[in-house]
Amino acid sequence: MRKNIINSAVIIGAGIFGVSTGLHLARRGVNVTIINDGPPANGASGRSLSWLNSARMRSLPYHLLRVAGIDRYRTLATRYPDAHWLRFDGGLTWDAEGEGNEIEQAFDYETSIGYDAHHLTAGEVQNVTPGVDARTITSSGAIFNGGEGWVDLPHLINQMLSEFSALGGTLVTDQGKARILIEKGRAIGAGTASGARMAADAVLLATGPDVPKMVAESGATISDGTPVALLVQTKPLTHPLRAVLNTPRVAVRPAPGGALSIDADWAADEGVKIGPDGSYVIDNSVVRSLLEEASRVLEGNPELEVASIGVGGKPIPGDGEPVLGGLRDIPGYYVAFSHSGATLGLIVGELLAFEMATGADHPMLSTFRPERFSAQ
Ligand SMILES: Cc1cc2nc3c(=O)[nH]c(=O)nc-3n(C[C@H](O)[C@H](O)[C@H](O)COP(=O)(O)OP(=O)(O)OC[C@H]3O[C@@H](n4cnc5c(N)ncnc54)[C@H](O)[C@@H]3O)c2cc1C
Repeated sequence: MRKNIINSAVIIGAGIFGVSTGLHLARRGVNVTIINDGPPANGASGRSLSWLNSARMRSLPYHLLRVAGIDRYRTLATRYPDAHWLRFDGGLTWDAEGEGNEIEQAFDYETSIGYDAHHLTAGEVQNVTPGVDARTITSSGAIFNGGEGWVDLPHLINQMLSEFSALGGTLVTDQGKARILIEKGRAIGAGTASGARMAADAVLLATGPDVPKMVAESGATISDGTPVALLVQTKPLTHPLRAVLNTPRVAVRPAPGGALSIDADWAADEGVKIGPDGSYVIDNSVVRSLLEEASRVLEGNPELEVASIGVGGKPIPGDGEPVLGGLRDIPGYYVAFSHSGATLGLIVGELLAFEMATGADHPMLSTFRPERFSAQ
């Protein structure tokens, strides 16, 4: 293993990126403190669809990173073959009728890069994956990606934090807003809202949707495309669905305990407003419509009931690609800001820990550097 050049690290943010990086650093023998404003997983990681995938079209480096991410989950799944929080039962997707239907192109592209994909007619779906109302599948058919899965991030984060603590890592929760401390042009640690200071050789900003505005305080720029997102968790029901469904009007996945997790961009756009005090106001009629859309794509069209609703920013960089690694102009200051953080969580933690601990660049992160925005 390449030698560490640091002894200590502090991480702001106990979502999947912060916790995964903290655990990988602790495994390397680095003395790590993770600071969070509230309890762990109270940000995007606590309200994520967390479909593990590299479906459809994107840059090749991003695809390779996602595939490596899925690979790490596969390894984890062999340690927990009966886990109710990590499943590889595939993903099924179809598009709306009309011009925007990209099923043919997506299937051809996925096949060309060796991504496991099967183009099915509506009638074939029931022989491949259960629980889908095939009448809702459009005329160009659906793609089944058998290598995909889903994870329950709060469960994973808690599990990682147990190992982190056993390795001597420190978790500081419910501390309000922390910030990165910079002295003489170098990141030297983090300060909490109560005035406590934690010195460290390297610092990671992993505050999910808050990364762009926090990094701006140091003069750096990260382009931000973060929307408000809405995730509905249903009450448990008995239903045969196994795959993650990505359909024109709704995405649905099984969740631990027989629940379903459900989201759609239109529901967040139409159903969430910001109130006068800055809090989110949810339109229950939109939530009902979202559940109806979910019921429509499920075999037997079951009645779905809301158990909980998660609302907040879904971290998405302005150019859609992950933002990972050190700030060129502030030694010791690292960032993690990306969509698809469920798929990327394990691999990004591993690679960022490598970079922070050794000071070396990892080639898989070379196109994801934060400085690409300062160059614009
Ligand atoms: C609705 C939805 C659907 C999604 N679907 C998928 C999907 O299907 N597949 C996929 O791979 N990904 C998906 N994602 C994306 C994925 O969930 C995120 O990329 C990932 O959870 C981000 O993790 P994070 O650690 O960067 O941020 P977060 O989980 O937001 O963690 C950041 C933490 O930092 C804390 N914090 C913020 N500011 C401060 C501060 N100043 N001081 C201290 N603590 C602070 C926050 O409270 C939070 O706990 C989805 C996300 C959403 C919201």
